[in-house]
Amino acid sequence: METKYIFVTGGVVSSLGKGIIASSLACLLKARGFRVTIQKFDPYINIDPGTLNPYEHGECYVTVDGHEADLDLGHYERFTNIATTRANNVTTGRIYQSVIDKERRGDYLGKTVQIIPHITDEIKRCVMALGKTGKFDFIITEIGGVVGDIESLPFLEAVRQMRWEYEDDTLCVHLTYVPYIAAAKELKTKPTQHSVKQLQQLGIQPDVLVLRTEHDIPAEMRRKIARFCNVSPNAVVQSKDAPSIYRIPVLMHEQHLDDIVLRKLHAPLEKEPDMEPWHDFLTAMETAEKKVTIGLVGKYVELQDAYKSINEALFQAATYAGRRLDLKYIHSEKITHENVGEKLAGLDGVVVAPGFGQRGIEGKFVALEWCRTHDVPTLGICLGMQCMVIEFARNVLGLKDANSTEMDPHTPHNVIDLMEEQKSIHNMGGTMRLGAYDCRLKEGSRVAEAYGRTDISERHRHRFEFNNDYREAFEKAGMKCVGENPETHLVEVVELPEKRWYVGTQYHPEYQSTVLAPSPLFKSFVGAAIEYGEEKN
Ligand code: GLN
Repeated sequence: METKYIFVTGGVVSSLGKGIIASSLACLLKARGFRVTIQKFDPYINIDPGTLNPYEHGECYVTVDGHEADLDLGHYERFTNIATTRANNVTTGRIYQSVIDKERRGDYLGKTVQIIPHITDEIKRCVMALGKTGKFDFIITEIGGVVGDIESLPFLEAVRQMRWEYEDDTLCVHLTYVPYIAAAKELKTKPTQHSVKQLQQLGIQPDVLVLRTEHDIPAEMRRKIARFCNVSPNAVVQSKDAPSIYRIPVLMHEQHLDDIVLRKLHAPLEKEPDMEPWHDFLTAMETAEKKVTIGLVGKYVELQDAYKSINEALFQAATYAGRRLDLKYIHSEKITHENVGEKLAGLDGVVVAPGFGQRGIEGKFVALEWCRTHDVPTLGICLGMQCMVIEFARNVLGLKDANSTEMDPHTPHNVIDLMEEQKSIHNMGGTMRLGAYDCRLKEGSRVAEAYGRTDISERHRHRFEFNNDYREAFEKAGMKCVGENPETHLVEVVELPEKRWYVGTQYHPEYQSTVLAPSPLFKSFVGAAIEYGEEKN
């Protein structure tokens, strides 16, 4: 079968869940035995979201090959269990950078460089780069933004051209919104009609419409939309608000989204998707009665997307343990010695979040001291792990001014210090220690037990590291370095074996946690939290 290209566009408003629809479709195609990948095109000028504040764009996701990516790639991986790479996320900035580099090299042989054809050709090259690997039957391309945005025009123009160049092998799924006007008690189709018209004006006829809605859309209304929008009636499906995003693949399958797509692309249809493991997960999720209460200490707690992968990893781990996740966000800037007991009371476990910079850091130390001395199961991730180290240095080793040189460049006790290879770096974009690195775990440690093996690989995003000059002092006092990079000896994991479960990882275990392959470390942490919760009560 020729590689098929499916484009997912959105209209009316943003945040309709294009990423979830793309992921759900990929999940269904994969369950039918196809090889699928999803890519995201973001219309902003940043080269990647690595330099963006989480308040702007939510979490920055990291791929195995060390690309700082849009958080939708996290959904793609969680739904498909297929690793993404740099090729799966492209921004306008990267497109322009590559065209300008070519122009400077003289590749355009004296031609005037223009949006059409040069920018659109570069977009098409990126769309097809994954197809050319021969590794995939379907490439699903999500176009960020909303139809009508000036910024997404070149992407849509590239889609239009590809539809003519690869006719039978391309398909467009357009996601729109059907609002419910409460005062009139009516669903309204007009925004959808307008949005499709806008797409048609750009020369793109959608093949499938997915209607995001808060209420069921009657069959008659769907037929009306099909009629007005030039789409076959069976190709209008609704995406009603669901209690969990993980239900969406099943809801899409019930409306035959995968069948419609395969039929329109003349792809083999005989196999039904094998969704059994997925259904098992949903059953566990929907039948869990008892809860496990986890506190997430961080400074971006006002924005749920800022810690997306951690939320999902916790949720998956809780589900596999047969529990409902009760996640409490705790603002690290608001934690003091006076209120910490009250703020962390009732929690079965605490996660201290990753992050950058000074803001909210002292609250993390206070929270960690409380968790350590009260023996609460605790997981520190990246900056969270570094905070564990600093808190231990200050309060157990008695190094009162211990710090990370990120927060205090002149600290007399730089227990966390800038990595050697980072010292000559001045450009902030894409220059951290990024992506998957090997880690060797100490036999008999809690982490080795959690993973069930001693050689693992996890993803990273940091510039600072545990300062090995202090290793002996920490180990003597009870904080053990139980995971390290086998080549550089960079400390990847610390733990307090004397405690119930107190582990810090320099890596981010949340990035590799998926629905069908949840993170062993999160599972072990949540398991310890459940045990502690039961003991407490
Ligand atoms: N700011 C820390 C560092 O750069 C931790 C980064 C993180 O938590 N992702 O090392």
